[in-house]
Amino acid sequence: MLSLLLKTEKKILALVIVTVLAIVLRPWVLVSNHVIDPRDDHTRRIYDDVLNGGFSEVHWVDQPNEQWKCIIKGGYEYPFCGYEMYLNNSFVEGVDLSSYRSMRLLLDYDGPAKTVRVYLRNYDSAYSRDDDLKSTKYNTIEFEKELLEEDGYLEISLSDFSVADWWLQMHSIPLRHSYSDFKNIVIIEIQTGSGLNPGEHNFQLKGIEFKREIISAESWYLLIILCWIAAILGFLVFRVFSLKKELMTQQRKESELTQLNTLLDKQAKNMEVRAKRDPLTGAFNREGVEESLVEALNEWHVSAKRLSIVLLDLDHFKQMNDTHGHAAGDKVLVELSTLITSNIRSSDRFARWGGEEFLLVCRDSELSETTSLAEKLRVLIENYQFHSSTQVTASFGVASINVDENLEGLFKRADEALYEAKRTSRNRVVASEG
Ligand code: GH3
Ligand code: MG
Ligand code: MG
Repeated sequence: MLSLLLKTEKKILALVIVTVLAIVLRPWVLVSNHVIDPRDDHTRRIYDDVLNGGFSEVHWVDQPNEQWKCIIKGGYEYPFCGYEMYLNNSFVEGVDLSSYRSMRLLLDYDGPAKTVRVYLRNYDSAYSRDDDLKSTKYNTIEFEKELLEEDGYLEISLSDFSVADWWLQMHSIPLRHSYSDFKNIVIIEIQTGSGLNPGEHNFQLKGIEFKREIISAESWYLLIILCWIAAILGFLVFRVFSLKKELMTQQRKESELTQLNTLLDKQAKNMEVRAKRDPLTGAFNREGVEESLVEALNEWHVSAKRLSIVLLDLDHFKQMNDTHGHAAGDKVLVELSTLITSNIRSSDRFARWGGEEFLLVCRDSELSETTSLAEKLRVLIENYQFHSSTQVTASFGVASINVDENLEGLFKRADEALYEAKRTSRNRVVASEG
């Protein structure tokens, strides 16, 4: 259980680390770049305001390295000059940049202007005409040149672009087309900023990159939350299953223990029974009969139910052993036990007292009826056909307990009666009248 918890803690820790990494590294990992190198077969052009009635001049300084110079001259209200690059060398077929989040502009500028202007020109047949270059939508942004000077590049969010007012007015664009649109950018332009800034403006374009997130931040965080929910659910399901399994194992162990206990109980009872029985004949032994004697004595004391005993000894058994063998003698002992046990009351207890001597405890029995029982048994034995085909007889000593007599006294008298039976003729019942 503890190891399971430690494992779980390790997994949670791993998940926390992955979550932190996913949050921290997201801006770097989940970003895709569209790099535009002006030297990669893009049609480029520089232009000035002469056609618009101005006097400015523009010159390539180092064309292969995208370096140009703009000399702004007064005498015209809005002097400008600039640079334009076709993304697909087509006025109609551009590049869809609508999924990109920002534009990174690597541009060096040195000149008197405070701002630089960028146009992302979008062609859409809804408002553009093939014969009018200015009919592409002018998504524009104008930024302070200091922003470039810090790092040599500028990252501009595409959402910061707006549509140039002059373009909206020039083409009487309806409202639904008046928002920035990057679906089909055909031309990128870089221009001197607004305001009258006479003098020399030096530009060098080193590169343009567009960046987009492969997965939006919202989706990314939602994914992390879903992963956590899935992990927690998975853990709960796993816990429920492992608890169920544990419970089943416990129940199985409990039932095994119960079975084992029952078996042990049974064995203990068997042992107890065996401990009270004579192993040869199955009759009670001295220990087994003791309990019955004590109870009977108690009955006698409490309820005056008279206790009687019969001592029984086989006659000339030694001789029988000698003639037929010890095994035959054993068999006689077994057969005799069975014979007697099946001819006594259930309340009587029959026990092997030792050797070929037996005891019969008769509770709630007067001397006369016990003597009659002994006589009945004597006759049964005398007439019984034992397997060894020998004549078996027994002598009986009967005694009933007297007032103020203890068990020792009772047994002494029964013994004396038995002795008397042996002494006289054997195969007879003698009752102690004492
Ligand atoms: P009595 O009529 O005077 O009782 O003569 P007895 O031979 O029966 O008496 P004794 O005491 O002289 O001999 C008892 C014999 O009982 C001796 C012994 O061999 C036999 N005996 C005692 N226990 C067993 C037993 O478990 N199995 C067998 N086969 N014989 C036993
Ligand atoms: Mg004997
Ligand atoms: Mg004997």
